[in-house]
Amino acid sequence: MFESVKDEIIKFGKIAGDRNLTPGISGNISVRCGDKIVITTSGSASSFLDYEDLCVLDFDGNLIEGTKKASSEKFVHIEFYKKRADIGAICHFHSPYLTSFAACNQPLQDKVLPEIVFMFGEIPVAPYAIPGSKLLADETAKYFDKYTVVLMQNHGAIAGGKDLKEAYLNIELCEAYAQTLVLSKILGGAKILSDNQVNDIYALKH
Ligand SMILES: [Zn+2]
Repeated sequence: MFESVKDEIIKFGKIAGDRNLTPGISGNISVRCGDKIVITTSGSASSFLDYEDLCVLDFDGNLIEGTKKASSEKFVHIEFYKKRADIGAICHFHSPYLTSFAACNQPLQDKVLPEIVFMFGEIPVAPYAIPGSKLLADETAKYFDKYTVVLMQNHGAIAGGKDLKEAYLNIELCEAYAQTLVLSKILGGAKILSDNQVNDIYALKH
């Protein structure tokens, strides 16, 4: 079932691994397919996926197809899809720079780069809960109404998109942004855009 979707997850998992966005067996990827979800399995390495590392779930988290258990973060993915009809794919990665902000419980709130302001506004941090728990899914889901990229405190980042390419590019862009912010601190601190400058960026949306 859903072979072309599985091929796409395998492809983007490898790209994410090549770019150090998903070290080791951390992270997971899913794609919405009607009333089903194709998602990576527990303990799989996103950069070395085979068909058996992917399974099909329904929206209650029941296993429909596959020989291994789904990712323990399946409920975060399910809640994201339930809240946002516009989201067709999700990448959850422990990418080093975004995860550093998550580790320090620091949202990316300062308005520094116009494209980030335009696309994401800011990147919040959802409160810590133990990985794989329903509580983590519930706490993180509170942010999905308003945000497409959310950090999970002491854990990592999750990003949605209309398709897998967009979800992947969203998290890649935010990871680069997080790196830019860290490097900017070394150079003396980023210059924050003024309220007027930020309003001009938001005005581009209308
Ligand atoms: Zn994780």
